[in-house]
Amino acid sequence: MQARILRLNIAGSPVEWLSWEEAATLQARGMVAWSLGSPCMTVRGGVSRLTGRQSTLVLNSIMACGGRVFSLSNRTPNLTNSSLFRRDQHLCLYCGKHSDHELTRDHLVPISRGGTDSWMNVVTACRRCNQYKGNKMLEEISMELLALPYTPNHAEYLALINSHRIRSDQMDFLRPNFSKQSRLR
Ligand SMILES: [Zn+2]
Repeated sequence: MQARILRLNIAGSPVEWLSWEEAATLQARGMVAWSLGSPCMTVRGGVSRLTGRQSTLVLNSIMACGGRVFSLSNRTPNLTNSSLFRRDQHLCLYCGKHSDHELTRDHLVPISRGGTDSWMNVVTACRRCNQYKGNKMLEEISMELLALPYTPNHAEYLALINSHRIRSDQMDFLRPNFSKQSRLR
């Protein structure tokens, strides 16, 4: 799988993932202010008519670009099943079973009883526990949670959505920005 480049704003906060094509374009246009991490890709460009040599761009795994500095700290990331399961480490938060196939999104306060489809009201559950809980509240059937739900901050969200191809230097950069309740390590 192709590596992705972590883009920071000029203040050093993580913003988004770039494809190597996007990163190469920004770098070729001189829009990269500074970079971190280690070189992760060499992109070959055109051949210079003057020198007959082919240009090359070396892309680092983390790069900071100019432009608007906007705060992402209070933005709520999109809730998707894949990022929810990753938040909960692919464990059913009721029985603790680990599974990649049978996981579902369970609403603590069921939608039918006014619950919302939001990070604080959802947990990863295996199909069996989800069916058992049905549209009841936990206290009605004495079920307990193994861990509390939380809303990932932006740095955690970036790690969640790119978990399969994140590089260790990118994870090392993101990790100190995770919230205290994060179970991502
Ligand atoms: Zn379960």
